[in-house]
Parts: sequence; C-alpha cells; structure tokens
Amino acid sequence: MEVSPLASFPERVGGRLCLDFVNTVDPRRPGEGQDYLGDYSDVLDWFVAVDVPLPRSVSWLRRRANQRPAEAAEAFRLATEMREAVFSLVNSSRQGDSVAPRDLVELNEALADSAGHRFLAPAERGGVQESWRTADSLTQVLWPVAIDAWDLLTEPELAQVRQCPTAAGGCGWLFLDASRARNRRWCDMRTCGNRAKVRAHYSRSVGA
Ligand SMILES: [Zn+2]
Repeated sequence: MEVSPLASFPERVGGRLCLDFVNTVDPRRPGEGQDYLGDYSDVLDWFVAVDVPLPRSVSWLRRRANQRPAEAAEAFRLATEMREAVFSLVNSSRQGDSVAPRDLVELNEALADSAGHRFLAPAERGGVQESWRTADSLTQVLWPVAIDAWDLLTEPELAQVRQCPTAAGGCGWLFLDASRARNRRWCDMRTCGNRAKVRAHYSRSVGA
C-alpha cells in the first residue's frame, strides 16, 4: 500500500475528466494562474485524487518515474501541453470557432499513443466495462484525459460546456452546465459566484 502526501487539488467542478484536468490551473487568467501540476509526481497524485484507473498502478508508475527521471520530465511536459491543447480545443469548439491545428496534433498524438491499449472486458455484474491493456510508457497518464476529450469534442454535450466568466471576475474554468435551465454561470456558486455577489453588493453600497 502506497502512502504519499497528496497535493491538495482544486475542487472538481468540471463534470468531465478532461475539464477537471484543464481546471488544474487556477485561475485561468493570463499571468495569474497557479498551476497545481508541478511535476510528473503531481500528475500521478491527481489520478489518485480523481480515482481513474490507468493501465499501470500509480505506485508502479511512481517507481518507474523515479528510475527514469528524464522520461518522467518528458511525460510531464507532454501532459501539461496536452492540457493546454484540450483547454483551447474545447473552448474554441464549444463556441463554434476554428481550432488551432497544433492543438489537434497534441491531442491526436496522445490518442494514437493510447490506441491498442483500450478494450472492453466483461463486467462483474454483467455487460461490459472499459479496461486497459498493460503499458509501460509514462505517457499513459495522458490517455484517459485524451479519450475523454475526444468524446466530449464529438458529443452534443459540448454545447453545455461553459467558461466561468473571467471578464466578470470568474476563474476561467470550463465546466459542464447540467442545470435544468442551462443557465449555470459560475464554476461554483460558493467560490466565484459568491465573490461576484460580494463585489456587486460592495459596488452597490459604494455607489449608493
Ligand atoms: Zn470560477
């Protein structure tokens, strides 16, 4: 049993794995964001926190990364590059804007890398479940996020993706608006929504 000090990650409000991965920068405003992923080990901690299986166990990957620091650094670089690519691709696509070819290359490379490792296995309670064939590459941390991004980018659900409004003081995170009225404006009412309410109250009081 592996015991590792878990980094504290931002609350997961994206509603999709790929959006929560994108939201590991807080806020998403140029020059302001704190990046919660500082190295490969942080990425592994994030997978422990979201509890999404990888082809190899996190403890196996951690041992491998310790033995191969250059490979871990490269896998980390690719993971953060793909995170930014997914952010741009989803944000452009949801608004019907054209996407940057370079971003698609990043995502497609991760998808190609994952091909052959994903398969359907019989589920214990009947039916099937998605599973992984063993893989040794440290870049396997990109795969679940890349596959979820592929799904989201090609699903009608993409139209429900919103961005917490930076112009109104929000954090710029992406989230799925699953509210019945489809009118969710903030990533989270308790944080960004509440801050905006306080600001509005303050400017009203000052203006009065
Ligand atoms: Zn927000």
